Amino acid sequence: MNHFMTNGDENMAFEVYKCVEKDCKGYIVFDNADFDFNDIPVVNGKYEFASTHCSECGKEYKVVPHYSVILLDKNGDFDEAENVCITAYEKREIERDFEKETDPYEKVKKFINMRGYTYSVKDVIEGYMNKKQGFYISYTMNDCVNNLEKELMSLVDENGGMKRSWIQELIDYKRKIDLLIEELEGMEIRYKGYYGSIMYLRTNGTVRIYLEDEDGHNWEEDMTWEELAKEID
Ligand SMILES: [Zn+2]
Repeated sequence: MNHFMTNGDENMAFEVYKCVEKDCKGYIVFDNADFDFNDIPVVNGKYEFASTHCSECGKEYKVVPHYSVILLDKNGDFDEAENVCITAYEKREIERDFEKETDPYEKVKKFINMRGYTYSVKDVIEGYMNKKQGFYISYTMNDCVNNLEKELMSLVDENGGMKRSWIQELIDYKRKIDLLIEELEGMEIRYKGYYGSIMYLRTNGTVRIYLEDEDGHNWEEDMTWEELAKEID
């Protein structure tokens, strides 16, 4: 039996080997379906089925019939790549795709997928906010938050909770202010001993009032909300 079909499935077309380069996480992947063991090509005096590259460091590998390599490479110094399952390579490709991602939203999405979690990006943003506020989060959520801190921070600033909730808060305040202004405008007042009424309040913090004296003279005055609050009875 040939060396290249050690994955347990005789029909498997893809062969995957782990790169021997130190610190490289890449794989050598090739299709063995077309290899004819009865007619092995000779390249530079050596038997060689194919020439291929590591998926990450790009180091060139030769796909050769195993025993022929050993016989012909008499000067030693060759490293034999370890034959691995294709899922190891696929797993690594998903990991690489995650590592290369620069968009924070997409990166969170890819992390969740990589780990096989069922969270949505929104769930993880909420988990991050909860952790920041000292609430308990689950082990798997903690895994997301710890590995995506930078991305989550920028998501919260860019389009996540914080800014949105501040604006929401501002809208709520504005609604309250509008209601109070509506209540106060037209209201009769007593100001520095004169009778009058509030004509209108402006959201910049100023107010115009209408006043009358006992002789029937009337006039208008502008002031700040604070000045009105001080003098009104
Ligand atoms: Zn490599």
